[in-house]
Amino acid sequence: MTSQEFLVQLVGAPLYKKFPCASKDLNTVARSIRVHEHRFDLYCPLCDKDSTWKLIVSDETSLRHKLEKASVGPISPGHFNGGASTTLWYGKFQLITQCSRDPSHLATYYFDTGKLPNESTSKHKHGISEKDVTSEAPQQALERSFITKVGQTPSLFDFQKTVLGSLSIGLSKEQANDFVRAIQTHSHGYHVASCVYLRRVFESMLDAAKAQHIAEHELTSWEDYDAGKTSQKIQLLKQYLPKFLVDHPHLYTLLSLGVHELSEQQCAEEFENLRTAIDIIIREQISNANDMKRKVEISTLLSKSINQRKNGK
Ligand SMILES: [Zn+2]
Repeated sequence: MTSQEFLVQLVGAPLYKKFPCASKDLNTVARSIRVHEHRFDLYCPLCDKDSTWKLIVSDETSLRHKLEKASVGPISPGHFNGGASTTLWYGKFQLITQCSRDPSHLATYYFDTGKLPNESTSKHKHGISEKDVTSEAPQQALERSFITKVGQTPSLFDFQKTVLGSLSIGLSKEQANDFVRAIQTHSHGYHVASCVYLRRVFESMLDAAKAQHIAEHELTSWEDYDAGKTSQKIQLLKQYLPKFLVDHPHLYTLLSLGVHELSEQQCAEEFENLRTAIDIIIREQISNANDMKRKVEISTLLSKSINQRKNGK
C-alpha cells in the first residue's frame, strides 16, 4: 500500500480503529504520512461537493524532514542511529488538510501511534536502537504497534453526509433515520450499535413488504410467513423487495452476528461492506418507487389524452 492509499484510509476511518503497523516501520510510516505531498479526493462538507485535498505541512515539520534527509540520508527501516537529527515522527500528532476549492476549508485529524514496544525501558532519549525495537516476538510487536485516529473536525459523519443527501425520497422516515444513525454510531466508534441500526433498516423493509402483501390480498393473518425463517420470508416477499436483498439473504445473518456475537473490532471490519450492501438496497428501493410513480403518472396522462381525443378535443 502506498502512503497515499494509507493516508486516505486513515482519513476515512472511524475513530479508534487500529491500523496495525510493523513496529520497525512505525517511524517511517508516521513520517510518510506527516510530510505527504500529493493531493487526494474527498467530499468537502463545507463546499457540499466532491473536492481534492492536500496536507498542510508546517515550515517546522518540513525543515525537520529536510534536515533529517540531509544529515543521515535514507533511513533503513528498523535502524535508527539515535543521532541528533534523527526525528521521532510517531506518537501523538495532528494533520491539517485543505480543500482545493476553498483554502479556508480545513479539516484536522488527530492520531496516536502509542509507544514502540519496550520504549519505556529504553536508555536512548533521542532515538531507538534496533535491539529495543526487535527484542519482542515479531507477532507481539506487530500487535502492539498501530496507528489510530483519535479525533477529527469536521466529524466523519459530516464527510459522509453526501451519501445521505439523496436518500430522503422513497424511504420511510424511520428507515432514513436508522441508516443515518448507523453511520453516526460507526463514525463515533460504536460499531456493534451500527449493526443494530443497519439490521433495523433491513427488517423494516421486510415489514413494509409484508404489510403490502397483506393489504393486496386482504389477509387478516399470514401464518406461513410468521412461522418462516428470515430466508423463507424473503422468498415469500420477493416480488415486493429490492432484488439485491432477495439475492443476498445471508446479509441478514451477518448483521445478526454483528448484533449478537461479533466484537466491536470485528463489526468495524465488516461495516463498510454492510453499509454498502444496505446502501445498494436502499437505492434500489428508491429507484423502484420512482419507476412506479412515473408509470402511474404516465398511465394517468395517457388515459386523459385518449379520452380527450375520443371526445374530439
Ligand atoms: Zn471545500
